[in-house]
Amino acid sequence: MTAIAVIVAAGKGERLGLPDKVLLPIAGEPALLRSVKAALAAESISSAVVVAGSHTMDAIKALLDAHELPKPVSVVVGGARRQDSVLIGVRLARVLGGDVVAVHDGARPLARPQLFDETIATARVWGGAIAAVPIADSLKRVEFDRVVTSVSRDHLWAAQTPQSFQTDKLLAAFDVAEQRGINVTDEAGLFEELGWSVHVVMGSAENLKLTRAADIPLLEALVSAHEATLEIGQE
Ligand code: C5P
Repeated sequence: MTAIAVIVAAGKGERLGLPDKVLLPIAGEPALLRSVKAALAAESISSAVVVAGSHTMDAIKALLDAHELPKPVSVVVGGARRQDSVLIGVRLARVLGGDVVAVHDGARPLARPQLFDETIATARVWGGAIAAVPIADSLKRVEFDRVVTSVSRDHLWAAQTPQSFQTDKLLAAFDVAEQRGINVTDEAGLFEELGWSVHVVMGSAENLKLTRAADIPLLEALVSAHEATLEIGQE
């Protein structure tokens, strides 16, 4: 049994206006490096594939080469959409012998290593498992600047990563997605389209994705507040 982390970092950071946002230091250490270290610190992960952008390939390779990491890491160039980058990474993970993949956003530097283990163990049983958190805010459907209706938050969860899947199942889902022209924002969406079950593992509010400028001070505050947890990811 071999679980491989696929860490996608080929985005253009459009909402932040920073094409290399995954390289942004969070409390002194690039977000991507934190994400990679967290994944490699998970007991059930044996190696990682990092999916870089063509615009960040050299910098990402240099960053990973400059640090002694506890497990092997391969780097590959991603695609135009997130799902293209994931597919490229998952195909390489399959070649490397991964029977389960844990897909993780390079822009989510504070995931707990245990979250990887939990989603991987659940995916081994059920096929797919994602980290997610129940929605806390009231939800409104808005058209232009007017509230049209309230949406019940019962049963609503916000999806995070890691998202772990049995590799062959995920690749089969990608094949169908390609045939049907399905676009998804995450891999769980592919499973849903096919009616395949995806289980949920409790994520955490700290497992924030670096998306907007306001996330930077938040992530930095979380790093100082939870140094002990982070040290596990830095082993
Ligand atoms: O854009 P967003 O922040 O939602 O992207 C989530 C993750 O997917 C990021 O880590 C980003 O680098 C990655 N991504 C990718 N290839 C793309 C688009 C996004 O690897 N084409």
